[in-house]
Amino acid sequence: MMKKNWIIGLALCSFFFVGCNTTVETEEESIVIDTLSIDRHLSVLASDDFMGRKPFTEGEEKTIHYLESELKRMGLKPGNVDSYFQEVPMVEITGEQSEVMTVTGNGQPMTFNTNEDVVVYTERAEEEIGIKESELVFAGYGIVAPEYGWNDYEGLDIKGKTVIVLVNDPGFGSGDSTLFKGDQMTYYGRWTYKYEEAARQGAAGVLIVHETVPAGYPWLVVQSSWTGAKLNLDDANPPYKCAIQGWITRKMAVQLFSAAGIKDYSAMARSKDFKPVALGLKGTVAVTNAIKRDMSHNVVAMLEGSKRPDEYIIYSAHWDHLGVGEPVDGDSIYNGAHDNASGTVGLLTIAETFAKMKQKPERSVVFLFVTAEEQGLLGSAYYAQNPLFPPNQSVANINIDGLPAYGEMKDLTITGYGQSEMDKYAKAEADKQGRYVIPDPDPGKGYFFRSDHFSFAKIGIPALFASGSFESKEKGEEFIEEKTKEYLAIRYHQQADNYIPEEWDLKGIAQDAQLLFRLGNRLANETYFPKWNEGSEFKAKRDADMSLRKQ
Ligand SMILES: [Zn+2]
Repeated sequence: MMKKNWIIGLALCSFFFVGCNTTVETEEESIVIDTLSIDRHLSVLASDDFMGRKPFTEGEEKTIHYLESELKRMGLKPGNVDSYFQEVPMVEITGEQSEVMTVTGNGQPMTFNTNEDVVVYTERAEEEIGIKESELVFAGYGIVAPEYGWNDYEGLDIKGKTVIVLVNDPGFGSGDSTLFKGDQMTYYGRWTYKYEEAARQGAAGVLIVHETVPAGYPWLVVQSSWTGAKLNLDDANPPYKCAIQGWITRKMAVQLFSAAGIKDYSAMARSKDFKPVALGLKGTVAVTNAIKRDMSHNVVAMLEGSKRPDEYIIYSAHWDHLGVGEPVDGDSIYNGAHDNASGTVGLLTIAETFAKMKQKPERSVVFLFVTAEEQGLLGSAYYAQNPLFPPNQSVANINIDGLPAYGEMKDLTITGYGQSEMDKYAKAEADKQGRYVIPDPDPGKGYFFRSDHFSFAKIGIPALFASGSFESKEKGEEFIEEKTKEYLAIRYHQQADNYIPEEWDLKGIAQDAQLLFRLGNRLANETYFPKWNEGSEFKAKRDADMSLRKQ
């Protein structure tokens, strides 16, 4: 892969001349990632033999040991002291709700049916859990956003109480694009955020008022998503979680608010001067849980930096998929070839490229293959709660989830465009490949919050999630549009997400891997720490962390 004249060039350059390397091809430029090893890894990871790579199955065993042996063969160091694995303890919680939630105070006791009016569950692995006569407080959107000067919890001690909060953020549907980000969803609009903030405030319970438009889905989805078995992290020192999390219908919310004398609750919550309101009501509801524990694994390797080994570039890709299910046309295996064997393979080839470089990067480079993305970003969330490398020494995350199987692409689509200076790095590398950069075409859906880079963003590490997804170099936009439609209709999270060597054109995967390799290598040879942009919801966390760094 390396050109001989380049080696001579470097020798001359470093011994006899100053600043001549502008005229000599660098080692990085001479490296071309080819499709041979991509095909080899894909044929293994997406094979029926790997059984859809589901956590806790033989598919996991095969996958993580394949990754380990490949990383060893490349000569990369284990990323977790002397191990290539980070254990990720998980717990499956199957909750049974009490039949009703009762609310007392201000006159008649009120009774609400679970499932019909309210859905509750818990992420705490306890057999019996609930709220008992817990004071109900309306906390607006349940948001504390320093960059918008917004605090829905201001001035009230919420410990032991149960907060009722609205879905999405104040900007959504306000017609005001300067209020938060208007109709573009911020992280403050996600239900995960509402739960996390209520927990940070020490609430006993948190109930989100469901409304179909700002939630993006009907009540039926709340019912089906939040009842039955759910996988969670089983952290030894879990962050505090509310005892009860859940949703109530708009109808139930209106009943509660009117019992407290509140009329236009949404106008109230949109006001910047909003203060939390005690409703003068007390709620009681419980969950009985069946609990099962098991252990999954992140796989992690690293290349130590030559000059600043305690600064890290962290690449990530999830190795897991959905396993084996009911057969469709005789096929019961969810091979997850695109999602995410392609990204896992992309990361393996990037790791191998780094390992082969003669000139080692100045900063350390980490290759992290995370588990249980499909179960709710659990492997990366565990890493974020138990980081192997200090977050404020971690320069950036580059996440890979699904690389294009349709040949070389003209675009580089950045999901979460505008969040951080990582955009500039991506654009510089895209330019070198003659590609243009575009933002994710549908930012209202909040895709930036739906793959593993988001776990890194949450602990402040600037994260990039980008791939070619819009225009084929040879066959244009419509070709990709058709392929994407077909993928979403019959392959995405279905048995037909297979690797078909005759149909896949691996040059797109190689092209993206090359771009992301160069991007990481550039960061690994700089001293700069890329920043979140003004207005990003992740900036405050990063700024606080970076101010604690030893210089
Ligand atoms: Zn995925």
